[in-house]
Amino acid sequence: MTPSLDIARAAYRDVPLYTTESIRCDVDLSDNTNLWGAPPAAQEAMRDLANGSFTRYPSAYALGLKDALAEYAGVERSWIVTGCGSDDILASAIRALAEPGETLAFCAPTFAMIPIFAKINGVVPVAVAMTATLDIDPDALIATGARIIYVCSPNNPTGTYASRAALERLIAGAPGLIILDEAYGEFAEDSHFDLTAASDRVLVVRTMSKAFGLAGLRIGYAVGSPSIVAEVEKSRGPYKVSVAAERAALAALAKDRAWVAARVVDARASRDRLAESLRTLGLAPLPSQANFVLVPVPNAAAVAQRMRERGVAVRVFEGLPSVGDALRITAGPASMMERAIHALDEALACE
Ligand code: PMP
Repeated sequence: MTPSLDIARAAYRDVPLYTTESIRCDVDLSDNTNLWGAPPAAQEAMRDLANGSFTRYPSAYALGLKDALAEYAGVERSWIVTGCGSDDILASAIRALAEPGETLAFCAPTFAMIPIFAKINGVVPVAVAMTATLDIDPDALIATGARIIYVCSPNNPTGTYASRAALERLIAGAPGLIILDEAYGEFAEDSHFDLTAASDRVLVVRTMSKAFGLAGLRIGYAVGSPSIVAEVEKSRGPYKVSVAAERAALAALAKDRAWVAARVVDARASRDRLAESLRTLGLAPLPSQANFVLVPVPNAAAVAQRMRERGVAVRVFEGLPSVGDALRITAGPASMMERAIHALDEALACE
């Protein structure tokens, strides 16, 4: 008999497969996408995708898309790297910027994929606590001495925002590189996007999955000084943005910006009304700068199950640091929010 063999490398074996519930539901408020739909010019581009135009590879590093994103972001092309969703950029950045065995620090709770991406790349994730006001704690992050510090603002899942003062302190004192994830940046009052200009050690990661309504096409990008962007691009590899994705993204960036801006206004108003309705139910949602609201709810899993039985899916979090059990609810059109509040009200009544 052949001796048993560990298939995967040791530091990788206990990494869980990221799973989300994918059972179809009438009203799905679980993934923070644009619930008003896809931008019109991008939809048209998808309809026009001629037979055969996808028999060849896309451009290796999406040069056309880079140009459009550079114009959108107000930087030179050499400051942009694209990817198959911002997930791809985050994983590629960690792989490029840290040696196996080095550390990546973040304030918990944050985007659930971050410790997974770290471990997959042999990097050790280190969680530190947020402040009492759910701001990032720059001194605690700096004290870890981490090679990479990850900050998500607005933060998933809390919806809270990293203050400018805390970020500036972090950038001034961090020993290594900083990844600033602005997947929800369009929904916030202010972006911290300009901080890339302040330091060549900051990479701002963004996506077209949220405000732009193109999650299914998987288009992410990052902005940073050419030296950091070039390293991330090497690690990302060629052909990561498909022909279809690039077409849709180019159309949306050329013709749908007003549509996106209007949906951002809708999402913010819906989010604020949702928070108000949650308060009316006697709950205390966290202040959100994103297109979703996190609301602490005891027995969140059971409550979410009862909501699902009523046709509404929300995201469950159990035992979150600083928060406890909570539900994350994406802001969407009024009819969806009414269904959600009604389902939550009934689900809570069973407690
Ligand atoms: N960053 C954050 C904070 C997210 O919440 C998500 C998606 N949930 C992503 C990155 C990845 O998004 P995508 O790969 O669709 O760009």
